Amino acid sequence: MKRRPFIKSLLASTALLSMDLKTFANTLSENADDDLKMPALFIGHGAPTYVLGENKYNKAWKEIGKKIPTPKAVVCISAHWLTRGKTMVTAMPKPRTIHDFGGFPQAMYDMQYPAPGDETLAKEISNTIQNPHIELDHQWGFDHGTWTVLYHMFPNADIPVLQMSIDYNRDAQYHFDLAQQLQFLRKQGVLIVGSGNIVHNLSKLIFDEQEKFDWAIEFDETSKNLMEKGDFKSLINYQSLGNEALLSIPTPDHYFPLMYTLGLKTEKDQISFPVEGVSFGSTSMRAVLIS
Ligand code: ZN
Repeated sequence: MKRRPFIKSLLASTALLSMDLKTFANTLSENADDDLKMPALFIGHGAPTYVLGENKYNKAWKEIGKKIPTPKAVVCISAHWLTRGKTMVTAMPKPRTIHDFGGFPQAMYDMQYPAPGDETLAKEISNTIQNPHIELDHQWGFDHGTWTVLYHMFPNADIPVLQMSIDYNRDAQYHFDLAQQLQFLRKQGVLIVGSGNIVHNLSKLIFDEQEKFDWAIEFDETSKNLMEKGDFKSLINYQSLGNEALLSIPTPDHYFPLMYTLGLKTEKDQISFPVEGVSFGSTSMRAVLIS
């Protein structure tokens, strides 16, 4: 009679032990997942001419490419692909290099970034994210927000690259929330890059690279402080951040890509700024690394 409770308790403790082991194993694998997570990036791409030669910014992009683990693929959300009422992802095998600028040196029009696409990955993104529906695109390619940066970051152009468009009918909160649905890609070794500029006011552009407006420096600093504090809510509601913010973000096309980077930050991620600077008066070149 005495044996039963003993066996029962033995079985119970074995079950408990195996459950604990399972929980322990899960914890380990979760941690391992996090360790394997690909960083996420925001790059301030600035003037298209930064693709040429060697300068402070493209040197830094090159360094970032060397520092982070080699990604399986890159998904870039560029300020230069705006769609209204829909989000699209490129799904062609050989995306074209788009020279979407005017009046620059011929050398820039001759440049190509022949990285392949990845139709399977595009379909996976479209199938995994149910709301919104992500449409497959076969027309776009790599606009200069993508290729002028990746040209330096991954110069061999051998990593598949996709672009995802920005639904320009939507607000910053929407883009921040959509980014969170892209988290699964980081676990697969996919690098997500938002490419824009935190401060970007072309109407205030000064044709002197060294010039800087005070309001541009101030808002760039404010954004850095808020990111360091983890106060993404204030950055999502940037219209409430005062006159510097309104001058820095007269239109949100170059700011929305930042939402995709910040939306991917988990509690375990660190945030750092591998590139800093303001150029041509009204463009912040700040890059943000989530890792
Ligand atoms: Zn741009």
